[in-house]
Amino acid sequence: MPGFELFGDLEKKEVQDVLDNGVLMRYGFDGMRNGHWKTKELEEALANRMQVKHAQVVSSGTTALTTALAVAGIGHGDEVIIPTFTFVATFEAIMMTGAIPVMADIDDTLTLDPASIEERITEQTKAIMPVHMCGSMADLGALKKICDAYSLLLIEDACQAIGGSYEGKPLGSIGDMGCFSFDYVKTITCGEGGALITNNEAYQSRAHMYADHGHDHMGTDRGEEDHLFLGYNFRISELNSAVGLAQLRRLDDFINLQKRNYGIIRTALSGVEGVLFRRIPERGVPNYSFLNIFLPNKALARNSASLLKEAGIDGCFYWYDNNWHYYRKWGHFLEAVSVYPLNPEMIGRIRERNTDRYPKSDTWLGRNISILIKLSWSEAEVQARAEKMAKVLNKALRS
Ligand SMILES: *Cc1c(COP(=O)(O)O)cnc(C)c1O
Repeated sequence: MPGFELFGDLEKKEVQDVLDNGVLMRYGFDGMRNGHWKTKELEEALANRMQVKHAQVVSSGTTALTTALAVAGIGHGDEVIIPTFTFVATFEAIMMTGAIPVMADIDDTLTLDPASIEERITEQTKAIMPVHMCGSMADLGALKKICDAYSLLLIEDACQAIGGSYEGKPLGSIGDMGCFSFDYVKTITCGEGGALITNNEAYQSRAHMYADHGHDHMGTDRGEEDHLFLGYNFRISELNSAVGLAQLRRLDDFINLQKRNYGIIRTALSGVEGVLFRRIPERGVPNYSFLNIFLPNKALARNSASLLKEAGIDGCFYWYDNNWHYYRKWGHFLEAVSVYPLNPEMIGRIRERNTDRYPKSDTWLGRNISILIKLSWSEAEVQARAEKMAKVLNKALRS
């Protein structure tokens, strides 16, 4: 998955451009910048690649998600349905606007289970936020139907799935809004960065203002600009955008490399009796950043993950026990532990709305091992790694 593996001359050339004219900020300084607008260029290229009208590039995936919620008018007391398996950023972004994250189960796609949504919808529910974890998507067709039936927004957290598609459309472009992360461990990186994409004019017109203290970006003098509403500083710097611009041009090459490496490992593991693969929704194409397998039960999965590690095979994650990606270790969220006082109503609602157990999530994630696919492996290296993995798993499953 990581774009940082293939960082080179193309990225350096774009960064050098920025350093040569010295304008590190995305707005203003028109006279000094000699026509260099890396962030704007990145936004145009991203909108183009994702087949949408608008892209707003910001400082992170987290701030992209917050911006998406804010411009949709989701805030105090509103509820947003999220999966039990994601990165903590998903609920952080929701809480930032004063809204309440409400967890629902995942299924064998490792993303939101459409069957677990309806029982969690209340008068307060405003959006469903599926997370396309580990490179593959939620059943967007089924989720869209629910959103239409209950007039909810569909906001895709596509931070881990850039380059994948569903029914021929890029992930992130299917919902009302989609968000990407360009942090250092994502498929393509800016160092730090993120983006919000949408076809909705109103959302876009608010997004650029919200992410820049409310600046309306009219005219050529920032000091003279107006502020129609409150905002924050979620800006990205030109240096980061320069890196992202070079990386975005390489996205399809990265995906092809991942696809080759994923295919080799998948073929080798298909021969291991007892190994099942994650379900990918019909007409969905992943970005191949992870290969996800299921073993017959939790004990075997946990043990196999340790055996793979002991055999020197890195990048095999057992998320069920992970601090950052699974609800079982999110006591700080469920208890709303904050460094500053939070709205007491919000704390109460978080506890009240997230007391369910998640047996389906526990079943699927308990049985899962997630295999990171790297870009820098040679074909021979992947082959050797795949054979070694098959051997370790065969032994684990037959002992
Ligand atoms: C990485 C990630 C984010 C947040 O992105 P940052 O750029 O690190 O803020 C949000 N959601 C998911 C699923 C992620 O993997």
